[in-house]
Amino acid sequence: MDNCLFCKIAAGQIPSKIVYQDDDVVVFEDINPQAPQHVLIIPRRHITSVSDLRAADGPVLASIFMAAQKVASDLNLERGYRLVSNIGPDAGQAVFHLHFHLLGGRKLGWPPG
Ligand code: 5GP
Ligand code: ZN
Repeated sequence: MDNCLFCKIAAGQIPSKIVYQDDDVVVFEDINPQAPQHVLIIPRRHITSVSDLRAADGPVLASIFMAAQKVASDLNLERGYRLVSNIGPDAGQAVFHLHFHLLGGRKLGWPPG
């Protein structure tokens, strides 16, 4: 999609620190980390948010969660980590390309702010 920041990151048109990628997903470091480890997991294909997912998107969701599992293992987050997706204005979604934050490396508070 034109003018989508994360589509451009997935295409390599905007640089990012990629920690994992495959045919379906790209995982890269968040530019403004909120924890010692903070990466974003995105599908290569543009999907606006969880609200726009369809049942047929099941395989890409499986790829997202398998990537999360692999990256968490690579980052030695055996003590735990959090996966979160912000959807819409009340949740503070700023980039309208589906992404899951993977945060770890410190004790994470609950409930989130
Ligand atoms: P949201 O608020 O939409 O859930 O999260 C968007 C995230 O994207 C934020 O955590 C923000 O720091 C990150 N971000 C915004 N622009 C860039 C960028 O150009 N590069 C990278 N690596 N992360 C970005
Ligand atoms: Zn996009």
